[in-house]
Amino acid sequence: MNRPGKIVCVGRNYREHAKELGNDVPTAPLLFLKPPSAVIAPGAAIVMPKASQRVDFEGEVGVVIGTTLRRASPAQCAAGIRGVVALNDVTARDLQKSDGQWTRGKGFDTFCPIGPLSEGVPPLDAITVVTRVNGEEKQRASSAEMVFSIPDLLSYISHIMTLEPGDVVATGTPAGIAPLQPGDMVEVELVGLSIVRNPVEAEA
Ligand code: ZN
Repeated sequence: MNRPGKIVCVGRNYREHAKELGNDVPTAPLLFLKPPSAVIAPGAAIVMPKASQRVDFEGEVGVVIGTTLRRASPAQCAAGIRGVVALNDVTARDLQKSDGQWTRGKGFDTFCPIGPLSEGVPPLDAITVVTRVNGEEKQRASSAEMVFSIPDLLSYISHIMTLEPGDVVATGTPAGIAPLQPGDMVEVELVGLSIVRNPVEAEA
């Protein structure tokens, strides 16, 4: 897929994931950005930077925007979606914690593998996201378990910044995150819709 103009991400949007990192569920969506330069295609390597001792996978539902959304209602947002993509919000967990701000921990090159666009738009509350490392299942959840639904997230974001065609919204990861190691093969699947599989390597 084409490089998105921006990638808007949502933190702590599944109760069990917030809990596993010792955080409360936010009362409003917690937003951050990933740079478009972090995007890689299926098959490209995730490069673990030397600056980090802990790089985690985060399997997520990525929503690709189809029409310009500005101060849009949840219903308008639901109608303005082009499709969904499997997305891995790769995170340098130690740097995320030590910086406070998340830009560095989330922003390294190769930290945003994105799978192919789904054919059509599935029911937004019934998307199953699964993450596997070396074939072993690590995460499985339904978008029905999100704290803030996809239409509500898009509407909230559209009241802050205009969502433009091709932008991607990463809707948060469920429980089960864990560190990656060089040599791993990690895959995020939106069952029946999109899959992104990437090898992991250490920085040269
Ligand atoms: Zn995430």
